[in-house]
Amino acid sequence: MLDKFEREINYLRVSITDRCNLRCTYCRPKEGLSLQGHDDILRYEEIIRFVSVAVNMGLIKVRITGGEPLVRKGFIDFISALKKIEGLQDISLTTNGILLPEFAESIFQAGIHRINISLDSLNEDKYAKITGGGNLQKVLLGIKKAEEVGFSPIKINTVAMSGFSDDEILDFSKIAFEKPFQVRFIELMPFGQAQAFHAENYLPIDQIMKKITSRYKLEKIEGKKNKADGPANIFKIIGGRGEIGFISPLSGHFCATCNRLRLTADGKLRSCLLRDEEFDLKKLLRQNCSDVELKKFIHEVIALKPKEHDISCSPEHLRKCQRDMSEIGG
Ligand code: SAM
Repeated sequence: MLDKFEREINYLRVSITDRCNLRCTYCRPKEGLSLQGHDDILRYEEIIRFVSVAVNMGLIKVRITGGEPLVRKGFIDFISALKKIEGLQDISLTTNGILLPEFAESIFQAGIHRINISLDSLNEDKYAKITGGGNLQKVLLGIKKAEEVGFSPIKINTVAMSGFSDDEILDFSKIAFEKPFQVRFIELMPFGQAQAFHAENYLPIDQIMKKITSRYKLEKIEGKKNKADGPANIFKIIGGRGEIGFISPLSGHFCATCNRLRLTADGKLRSCLLRDEEFDLKKLLRQNCSDVELKKFIHEVIALKPKEHDISCSPEHLRKCQRDMSEIGG
């Protein structure tokens, strides 16, 4: 699936629910978020049908996200059904880790072996504050469980925020030094709620890197391990066991290599995370469309994939993304 800028689109991120067991302040509002009703979100069979058709067109990788994917009922059976789609080479999962002690084993058994766990602070009080009451110990237990069960790689995603986590950058780096994990620093993006405090909390990746290299020596890992790999710049931490990744959607503008589509929980297909255009897949599916019509729809969405997002770090661009990340899936 080539778009008009010759990018090969082979990666889909699927949000299976907009519900979450955390309330991260930059991701969703404290109150007032209208949770989608049962019928508003795509049924698992609808997602499976869409993915099967897209795989037929060249999709090779799916990441399951949310909201928090582990809170949706029937999630393990859904993974097993995805695993049966011939030609789908890679399925991975992004979770906040809270429910991993309970589910890690069955997720692994169902066939997902690659996992990203989001963790923005290693301090219990700060973690509770940013997540609206989350319990850090549960996530740490979840990470431990994921390691015991055998997930590989385990990636720890941390959204770097000025005035919040700048004093923890070296603590996060230490994890990558001691454990065979990939610790990834992500720039805060100006979505719905996050717009409010984006400017003051935005922390560009080069500042994070400067801090890390004051303590650790990093060596860039060149090239991608496989063609559906994401946009992170990955470094080996010299003398350590793990890796450090940097994801800089704003300062780094990696749109030229973007290979993604995104499916929201309520069935909208987006070709760019940081633009508001989306296309109503749910409506089409519920009109009992044929596979030919579905393929045409996918082609049309890909044809309209923009060359790049138009968000910059300047204040006049901060109101570009209206939906919260919890609705889109990250
Ligand atoms: N609940 C799961 C989790 O916590 O990983 C999956 C969904 S969450 C929306 C996916 C990722 O998006 C998390 O790592 C979260 O930190 C990140 N995220 C949410 N809002 C963001 C923002 N405004 N800027 C950057 N990352 C954001």
